[in-house]
Amino acid sequence: MSATIPTQFTGQAAMSKQNEEKFDLKEHSYTPRAFNEDDVIIKIECCGVCGSDLHTITCGWQAHDNFPAIVGHEIIGTVERAGANTTHKVGDRVGFGAQCSSCGECSSCKAGQENYCLKGMGGTYQGKTGDKVQPYTQGGYADYYQGPGHFAVPIPAELESAVAAPMLCAGGTVYAPLVRYGAGPGKKVGIIGIGGLGHLGVQFSAALGADTFAISHSDSKRADAEKLGAKGFVATKDAKTALAEHAATFDLIVCTSFQEGMPLQELYLPLLKPFGNMVIVGIPNSGIPAPGWAVLGKSITGSLIASPSELTEMYALAVAKGVRTWVETRPMSEATQTLQDMHEGKAKFRYVLVN
Ligand SMILES: [Zn+2]
Ligand SMILES: [Zn+2]
Repeated sequence: MSATIPTQFTGQAAMSKQNEEKFDLKEHSYTPRAFNEDDVIIKIECCGVCGSDLHTITCGWQAHDNFPAIVGHEIIGTVERAGANTTHKVGDRVGFGAQCSSCGECSSCKAGQENYCLKGMGGTYQGKTGDKVQPYTQGGYADYYQGPGHFAVPIPAELESAVAAPMLCAGGTVYAPLVRYGAGPGKKVGIIGIGGLGHLGVQFSAALGADTFAISHSDSKRADAEKLGAKGFVATKDAKTALAEHAATFDLIVCTSFQEGMPLQELYLPLLKPFGNMVIVGIPNSGIPAPGWAVLGKSITGSLIASPSELTEMYALAVAKGVRTWVETRPMSEATQTLQDMHEGKAKFRYVLVN
């Protein structure tokens, strides 16, 4: 064991439920759960800021209420201690995404779909550990992270850490359903919402060879969409024009920004070809409104992050086709202001906190 690994890890924590109008993280140290030979400990280089981080500390999802809470699940760092049962070595650069445990024994886990573990996936933060000292996991807005080597994904040398980090959650979340539902040559794919997830969705869809269209409320993101590799742009503000040009032509639509009142029946489902798929990543607390007649011959489904093997495939595609996250880096010590700016929609398109 490296003598330099501290016995306590230190991060930027929400000490209690956060007020969205005024985030206030504090430096907090914790003792990690007992190390076992399946684990690695990494010295964190950087961590992306995901929408889930905000939801968690503002208690948008009721299950997440363990405080103090260090969030962050787009973590890249260097292995400083590697358990005997892992494939990693000290010095390897690896990343942890949103998942850090699964049962390892169910049919999903055995099929390499750990993110659909039938016993439930364990989160990189706020996940149960079964340990008395640290009963729930703490995340990546910190100096070190300890987790199972199985969920630590090797980062290709061609990708800078800050660019690669957001792919661990945002990237995998859009990449996995694109592949699962056949994005590729000869397919017309729409990406709804051009933000942290969507800007990677457009790039991965284009990288897979699909005719890719950005679908956004107004024209304001048209120029960005073109730079990201979109072949076309659909402004939903003018549904009549959108339908006149694109009705029943999309094979697949991935919705990265599901908001109440969005035109699911009026526009999104009519854009799909018969037997087309609409995948919603990020299901809102309020659920998905029943689509009635509009769903006939169309499928609506959800998707949850990506498995370790899918993340590895995603990185290979990113290297081969030049997919890059558009990031703004900030010092880890500025986590509070960064969350505030993220909440206020200032990210273009992903903040990454750097140690
Ligand atoms: Zn996330
Ligand atoms: Zn399982």
